[in-house]
Amino acid sequence: MKTIALVAHDGKKAALLDWIAKHRQFFADKKLVATGTTGKLIGERLQLPVQCLASGPLGGDQQIGALIAEQQIDWLIFFWDPLSSQPHDPDVKALIRLAVVWNIPVACNIATADFIIHSSLYQQDYQRHVPDFQAHNDRFSG
Ligand code: PGA
Repeated sequence: MKTIALVAHDGKKAALLDWIAKHRQFFADKKLVATGTTGKLIGERLQLPVQCLASGPLGGDQQIGALIAEQQIDWLIFFWDPLSSQPHDPDVKALIRLAVVWNIPVACNIATADFIIHSSLYQQDYQRHVPDFQAHNDRFSG
């Protein structure tokens, strides 16, 4: 079962909820993990089971980043708000960075989420390439 991580800043929560509601069927057989408030809203308003982590500004973004580093996340949907500053801006940047490091698909807006959800690769059970960081880990060995 694929695991999808969901995060939306306050100014983007309504957009994310509307978009998930539109694609409810797609989410029915996925494992969902979300930052605290985003997950609570998805659970309450859309009646989808969600594992809720800490609220983003309290460490939730970092928890999702850790799950990415542990290869537990298949897709990150992260609707960050480009028109408001965030107290946890370094965490936002760190989360996006880890998604790139580990080659996780990331949708930061509705258009990208639409493209991914309608991709034939998704139906074909796409196996992403997991980068091999052995050389990095060995750089001070021997
Ligand atoms: P929240 O966190 O879901 O707890 O609001 C989102 C965020 O701002 O990272």
